Amino acid sequence: MNYENERRQIINAALEMKANRLISLAGGNVSMRTEDNKILVTPSAMAYETMQPEDICLADIEGNKLEGIYRPSSDLAALAYIYRQRPDINAIIHTHQPYATAVGFVTDYFEPCLVTQIDANRGGVHVAPFTVSSDIGMGILTVEHIGSSYAVILKGHGVIAVGPDMECCLTSAVYLEEASITYLMAKACGAQIEALSDEIVRQEMGDEKEWLEFIRGNRK
Ligand SMILES: [Zn+2]
Repeated sequence: MNYENERRQIINAALEMKANRLISLAGGNVSMRTEDNKILVTPSAMAYETMQPEDICLADIEGNKLEGIYRPSSDLAALAYIYRQRPDINAIIHTHQPYATAVGFVTDYFEPCLVTQIDANRGGVHVAPFTVSSDIGMGILTVEHIGSSYAVILKGHGVIAVGPDMECCLTSAVYLEEASITYLMAKACGAQIEALSDEIVRQEMGDEKEWLEFIRGNRK
């Protein structure tokens, strides 16, 4: 089987996505760019708990299915668009995580205010306007609004978390949800959350390379 290591990374990330309550049932999707610029993506509507490496679909960078017995995620066209437009992105996790999605109804920009969010999302997280699901528009709006962050909230839908590798992408999705819970609870209690200065945010964020090394170190 080709890309065995990548296929296993996708399934592990999907199980973590489920364990961290970022998705219900078989929702969302997990994908990766291969070294030869193809896309590996989870099949549509398949339970992650029983998914096998050979079940993962292979597609070209235009989003055309190349291999796989099952139908690829219905969001493949949007995912392929993101991979084409952003060569620095090698992994994407799409979730319907409820707390971050709720933040999308509260603000158009989740300002950087919590250390886990600043570190894992690489700053604040923008909210992209609503678009219908399973449409390339989801990818276009992601590219338009994500900026240099490792995540964007899709209004009334969920989250697209990205990264140069799967571990960073998963960390971004999980910590965004944790930060969203804290943010919403504080807001619900009437807290006024003061904006941090750009300098403080930069200080907390530190060097991107160091963050990547830290995350990759955790994997060993
Ligand atoms: Zn979705």
